[in-house]
Amino acid sequence: MGKYSKTHPQVKDLAKRYRVEKGKNFRLKDYDPGDTAGFKSEKADAPELLQHNVEMMARLQDKLYAENRWGVLLIFQAMDAAGKDGTIKHVMSGLNPQGVQVYSFKSPSAEELDHDYLWRTSKCLPERGRIGIFNRSYYEEVLVVRVHHELLNAEKLPERLVGKKIWEQRYEDINNFEKYLSNNGMVVRKFFLNLSKREQKRRFLSRLDDADKNWKFSTSDIKERGFWKDYQNAYEEMIQNTATDCAPWYVVPADNKWFTRLAVGAIVVQTLKEIDPAYPRMDKAKMDDLKKAKELLTGQMPEEE
Ligand code: ATP
Ligand code: MG
Repeated sequence: MGKYSKTHPQVKDLAKRYRVEKGKNFRLKDYDPGDTAGFKSEKADAPELLQHNVEMMARLQDKLYAENRWGVLLIFQAMDAAGKDGTIKHVMSGLNPQGVQVYSFKSPSAEELDHDYLWRTSKCLPERGRIGIFNRSYYEEVLVVRVHHELLNAEKLPERLVGKKIWEQRYEDINNFEKYLSNNGMVVRKFFLNLSKREQKRRFLSRLDDADKNWKFSTSDIKERGFWKDYQNAYEEMIQNTATDCAPWYVVPADNKWFTRLAVGAIVVQTLKEIDPAYPRMDKAKMDDLKKAKELLTGQMPEEE
């Protein structure tokens, strides 16, 4: 991951620090789930940057919406209890709800299984000017479906098409799909919230012990924890094969929730900055219209108001 600077990295550096765009040599073990990039704690030194990110997001999103050319797709993948929901909530706190769409992808329905796996995704892609957030995504197709082979059998693919190369083919199809999106002005950014097994245990226990968190607990989460190593391998291979220039992965440390929010916020800001949206400029005819409208309004008698 390179050398860390002693001082706090700012938005750009944070985004760079966790970005993977060439997957070939990617190793999950090089990324520390407990990393905080030199920040000490939420209270000590993060609030300013958290606030800055939220404000910048709002400002840039307003332009993105007004310009109405680019769309942004933010994809979140992680093990259970990594903080996807909380992180999405934080990102949303900086955005105008009118310009964001959030979709959560669960196990596919019978209807969805009757289609190719990108079908349900395509219907949820963001419009121009909008930010789409995927809470889980088509990446489940190379994660949970890879770890639990029986899920692949349920997908009703013609037998002849299910060979050893199926995962490689899926990576390739996903890369092509994301390239297609980016060629159409849809900017794709992917987040893997990188949680340690130890911290997951701690969070599960607190879900069991704290009455207000009980609802979050599901016994199937414990079952999936048993496949931890398989999932780590699947995530690693997924990132190796689908991290690209146009749709990079961000491997964000997830053992400290405040830091996950800080880093993801910074990455979203950096993404919007790179798009560099601008308010549309008015042409001469429109400017004349505006002038006339102003004259009409200011020329009105008080009793007309
Ligand atoms: P989360 O765990 O994301 O907070 P949740 O607990 O509200 O969400 P779950 O019922 O756990 O909801 O739904 C997500 C589940 O759906 C996960 O176990 C995930 O692996 C599974 N899933 C998502 N997409 C697919 C897919 N394409 N094929 C099979 N399973 C999928
Ligand atoms: Mg769940």
